[in-house]
Amino acid sequence: MAYQARIFYVVPMILTFLCMSSGCLNKKNQSLHLDLDQAVKLENVVPVAIIGSGPSGLSAALYVARAGMKAFVFAGPTPCGQLTQTTFIENWPGREKVLGIDLMNDIKHQAESFGACIISDSIISADFSTWPFSLKTEEGREFKALSVILATGAHPKVLSVPGEKKFWGKGVTTCAVCDAPFFIGKEVIVVGGGDSAAEQIFELAPYVKKVTMLVRGDSMRAAKLMQQRVLAYDNVQVEYNKQVRGIYGDDTGVKTIEIYDAKTEEVSTRSIDGVFLAIGHTPNTQLFKKDLKLDELGYLMMQGRSQQTSMPGIFAAGEIQDKTYRQAAVAAGEGIKAALDATSFLYELGYNAKIGQALEDNFFETFSDEHIELQEINRLTEFNKYVIDQPGLVVVDFYSKICPGCIRMLPSLESLAHHLKNKINIVKCNVNNSIEILKELQWNRGLQVKSVPAIFIFKDGKFIARTNEILSKKELFTFVNQYLQD
Ligand code: NDP
Repeated sequence: MAYQARIFYVVPMILTFLCMSSGCLNKKNQSLHLDLDQAVKLENVVPVAIIGSGPSGLSAALYVARAGMKAFVFAGPTPCGQLTQTTFIENWPGREKVLGIDLMNDIKHQAESFGACIISDSIISADFSTWPFSLKTEEGREFKALSVILATGAHPKVLSVPGEKKFWGKGVTTCAVCDAPFFIGKEVIVVGGGDSAAEQIFELAPYVKKVTMLVRGDSMRAAKLMQQRVLAYDNVQVEYNKQVRGIYGDDTGVKTIEIYDAKTEEVSTRSIDGVFLAIGHTPNTQLFKKDLKLDELGYLMMQGRSQQTSMPGIFAAGEIQDKTYRQAAVAAGEGIKAALDATSFLYELGYNAKIGQALEDNFFETFSDEHIELQEINRLTEFNKYVIDQPGLVVVDFYSKICPGCIRMLPSLESLAHHLKNKINIVKCNVNNSIEILKELQWNRGLQVKSVPAIFIFKDGKFIARTNEILSKKELFTFVNQYLQD
């Protein structure tokens, strides 16, 4: 078995090596020319670009950095990945019980301690048809990479039914961890019957009056133990063969849903306060599908037991290429394999420390983040001092520590605070320990924080705008800028 496994791993590596030693990379019908001496003369060429910062991306960064190569991680739209959306993780070897966000921060700090550079920016275009490979970011960085590790994971699926978009953030969400505290005493549904749906139930049950799990088939897909835990709650009900057909409401949020019963073929309407979706994930391969081979479900195809994609020099790890195991520890292991494959690829090309230094001497892009840490306000006196009594524009970031959208937006807000440091003030307010502020907003100003992240803008102490959307850095800059120019 071990022998067979090794053949699977070694054959593609030998083929890659033979091709590389003849100075070409085969991509579908094209050949790419590899010339490290020429590449070193170009500007802004990084040895390894890692796209994505979940367990696979950060583990890859740790290993690349420890190999003495510069690892540039583009954190992407969900910094530190999907684990930031869960609460406790109990199946990470060596950690009995650890908060997802804490685990990810530990891996991030470990990678940074060996020199990995983690940049809060997202890759928006990738061209793998010429070498070094070309990448562009949302913030306008343009650079090339000798090798790339794709670790962009997967994003939650949505139902695509009427009302889902309209009520997003107003009762429709994929994040129970973030929004469960806003549904105290309410009735909600969870759509899906997998482990993620079960986890949403565990999050919601302590807060809500009743939570109903709507499973589209006649059985749950979640692990048996998870199913038992779901059924053990008094305020949890599971209904099978039920599909949500539409979501309806008013300005205050979701009010009703339309449900189709696949057994009776009847459609009914039900009053509900919140809809939590947990119906699986789609791999984030959109940017790469023109250059790389995907399987029928859109996952990247790997070469044998390596982490190499269909293109030499491009490696991948985690959920972008794994539809079977989908476990954080597996993703981390694949990230390590991808790093070892990428460093071998570079060594075989002739990469060494001298070349690394020559590349660095030609960096004219800024591969760093300038930011200002936001002031935290929790008490009403602080709210009055830093928001109401402040002249000019003040942005308040209402967040919770384990809300992925909030975690995603924080670096953008900190960067905005740096770029506009003489023009605006930005403060952050943790909704879990700022009851005084939330009550003041609701009772005296008619402003309710119903889900996080919530960004409020005040001008000369008066509320002027808000958004509950998870904005990219560019979108956030545009959103705030329009009030600066007023
Ligand atoms: P899964 O793919 O396992 O489950 C998705 C669920 O959503 C299924 O019940 C599926 O129904 C249902 N579904 C899919 N599309 C629709 C739709 N359009 N309408 C209604 N229902 C729909 O995804 P998960 O995100 O739950 O889990 C992904 C992976 O992550 C799994 O391997 C899981 O084990 C793992 N995981 C592990 C956790 C843990 O160990 N603590 C926690 C969370 C996830 P059907 O069965 O009919 O297809």
